[in-house]
Amino acid sequence: MSKFFTQRLSSLEAYVPGEQPKDMQYVKLNTNESPFPPSPSVSAAVMEEAGRLMLYSDPESARLTAKLAEYYGVSASEVIMTNGSDEVLNFAFMAFSDEDHPIAFPEITYGFYPVFAKLNRIPYTQIPLRDDFTVNYRDYVGIFKNIVIANPNAPTGLSLSSSEIEEIVASNPDNVVIIDEAYVDFGGESAIPLVRKYKNLLVTGTFSKSRSLAGARLGFGIASPDIIRDLNTIKYSTNPYNVNRMTAAAGYQALVDSEYYTNNCKIVVQNREYTKDALRLRGFKVLDSKANFLFAQSPLISGEELYLKLKARGVLIRHFNTPKIANYNRITVGTREQMDILLSRIDEILKEKKDENS
Ligand SMILES: *Cc1c(COP(=O)(O)O)cnc(C)c1O
Repeated sequence: MSKFFTQRLSSLEAYVPGEQPKDMQYVKLNTNESPFPPSPSVSAAVMEEAGRLMLYSDPESARLTAKLAEYYGVSASEVIMTNGSDEVLNFAFMAFSDEDHPIAFPEITYGFYPVFAKLNRIPYTQIPLRDDFTVNYRDYVGIFKNIVIANPNAPTGLSLSSSEIEEIVASNPDNVVIIDEAYVDFGGESAIPLVRKYKNLLVTGTFSKSRSLAGARLGFGIASPDIIRDLNTIKYSTNPYNVNRMTAAAGYQALVDSEYYTNNCKIVVQNREYTKDALRLRGFKVLDSKANFLFAQSPLISGEELYLKLKARGVLIRHFNTPKIANYNRITVGTREQMDILLSRIDEILKEKKDENS
């Protein structure tokens, strides 16, 4: 830290993204990216837009916003487009929470929430999960705090029903409830249909997972026009051109090609169920994920050892060195071929383990 770094932020612990090692070609199952490339016409749209890069992007992303609004059956005034959904989440923390308006979220969830809270000096409450890792929605009913819940949750993949979400939203009318739907396209129930009914609901989404655009950085928020206006106040006070031209073109074309992505999601869901069954056959405890990853633990090997041994064999998964989940790993669901490589490496590792112990 330099002597210039502000005291206010000196204890900030930054978010640690999943590793992106360059030493060799891994089967990469650690950051929940799509195993499928963007649709071919997305690449073409990006190439075409590249010729206009001397011009600033449209700060309203009007064409993209209209297309997304149409896709979700809302109006453009209920939509904000952002640089990844991390940006809309940060905007929402900045806009709606402060010392007097604390925020609550599950104890085990997306690691960025406590970082956003600390960055913006917002007091936060981490509400424990049940022993089975489910979110007990009753813990959030009428709590007089702002709330952020990832649904499906990360890194568990477990989800709440939209009636449970509705009860949380309805019972906290004077607070903003943010539902982070980064993984909803893999089998969760979206809360977007509730936005018209509840003025305190903000639903966030991303093109990073189900739409194969993690590297483009595109996310969005859907809420009442008043909430969207507040988020735009933050946006225009920090980064008016937050969505660049190539990303806006990619996102628009991805919405045009929705069928391609819906189909990819179906394949990922099939591969998830296949891998879940295969891991359970091998003795793993695997949570019932509605996302594009599995959260799994073996009784035969610690989470860290499995992670390290798979990495040595060219397969990357995500291990969290965090109390309560240190024996679990989060495994991104990829292609069937990738899953078969994972399973055969696991078989080798478990066999080696058994030989050691006998
Ligand atoms: C991946 C992820 C996001 C956001 O990702 P972006 O790439 O910034 O859109 C948000 N929330 C959760 C829970 C995620 O896993």
